[in-house]
Amino acid sequence: MKIDFANLQKQHQLYKDEIESTVTDVMRQCNFIMGEPVQTLERSLEKFTGTKHAITCSSGTDALLLGMMALDIQPDDEIITTPFTFIATAETIAFLKAKPVFVDIDEKTYNIDPSKIEAKITDKTKAIMPVSLYGQPADMDSIQKIADKHNLKVIIDGAQSFGSTYKNKTDSNLGDISTTSFFPAKPLGCYGDGGAVFTNNIELAEKMKSLRLHGQSKRYQHQYIGMGGRLDTIQAAVLNVKLKYYAQDLKKRQEVAEKYNQSLKEKYQIPFIQEETTSAYAQYSIRVQNRDVLQARLKDKGIPTAVHYPMPLHLQECFQYLGYKEGDFPISEVVSDEIMSLPMNPYITNDEIEYIIKK
Ligand SMILES: *Cc1c(COP(=O)(O)O)cnc(C)c1O
Repeated sequence: MKIDFANLQKQHQLYKDEIESTVTDVMRQCNFIMGEPVQTLERSLEKFTGTKHAITCSSGTDALLLGMMALDIQPDDEIITTPFTFIATAETIAFLKAKPVFVDIDEKTYNIDPSKIEAKITDKTKAIMPVSLYGQPADMDSIQKIADKHNLKVIIDGAQSFGSTYKNKTDSNLGDISTTSFFPAKPLGCYGDGGAVFTNNIELAEKMKSLRLHGQSKRYQHQYIGMGGRLDTIQAAVLNVKLKYYAQDLKKRQEVAEKYNQSLKEKYQIPFIQEETTSAYAQYSIRVQNRDVLQARLKDKGIPTAVHYPMPLHLQECFQYLGYKEGDFPISEVVSDEIMSLPMNPYITNDEIEYIIKK
C-alpha cells in the first residue's frame, strides 16, 4: 500500500469540476486583484466562523504581521509566545523588531502553559500570542484572564486551527485578533499561499483592511505604513468552493483522529483535547520513543510520517541573539524529540487507517 500524507490529489479530483470552472471564470474576467470572489469569501468566512470581520490576506505569515501591525507593535515591545511551533509565529514578531519571549508548553496539549506566562511579563510586554497547535485552541480563558489583568493584547496564531472551537465559539472569535493560513496542506487550503485575520473589533478590522492595501485610506492616500498583502482572486475562488465542503471535511478529520485514538491509546500518548474544545486536526501527532527507527520502518511500508517540529524555536540559529540555551524549555525540548505525525486528511480510507495502525 502507498499512503498519501495530505491527499491533495484526491481532494482536487473530488472538487475538480467546480474549482476548474470558477478559476476559469476569474481568468476570463481578468479580475485578478480584489475581484468579487474575495468579498464573497470574506462574507462566507464571517458566516462560517461567527466572527464579525474576516479579512483575507496573502498568507498565514502575513496575517500575523497584519495583526501585530494593527495592534501597533513597536520595536523592543515584547510578545509572549511558545517555542514549540512553526517558525513564522516568532519570526514575524522579530521581523517587526519586537522581541519574542518564550514560555514552555503544557505537557498534554503542547500549547503554551498559562501558568508560566505571568513570570515573563515585564513593562515592555504588549501581547500574548498563543498558537492553536495541531488545530487545538490553547487554554484561552486562562490566557485572556492574564491579558486582562495586565492590559495585554491577545493575538492567536490559528494557522492550523480554522474551524476549531473553544466553549462553543470558533477560535476566530478568541483574543483581540485571530489569524489563519490557507497554505495547501492546512485543514482549509487554497492552491497557493493565502491567509486571513479575524476580529470582532471594527477599528482593528478597518485598520487591517487598510494595512493589507499599503495602508491606504483612499486611492494613492496612505494613512499607515502597510504592505501588499492581498489574497489573489483565483485563490478566493478556490476557497469559495472548498469552504462549502469544509464542515464535512472537519468532521471527517475528527473521525479519522477518533479511529487512530481507539487503536493507539494503549501504546502511545495520543492527542489530548481539553474539555469544551474541538481540534481541526491539522496534524495527528503521537509521542514515540524510537522515532527514527519507527519512521524508517513506516516509510518502508509506504506510510509517510512527519515531525512537527524537530527543533524548538529557542534553539534555532536565527534566535541565538535572544540568549536562550538548551534546558530552558524542557517540555518543548522533549516533545520535539518524541513527536511524530501520522497521515491525516479527510479522504484517508478505513483500510488505510487499519493498515497504518497494524504497521
Ligand atoms: C503554517 C503556519 C504558519 C504560516 O502560514 P503560511 O500561510 O505558510 O505563511 C504560521 N504559524 C503556524 C503555526 C503554521 O502552522
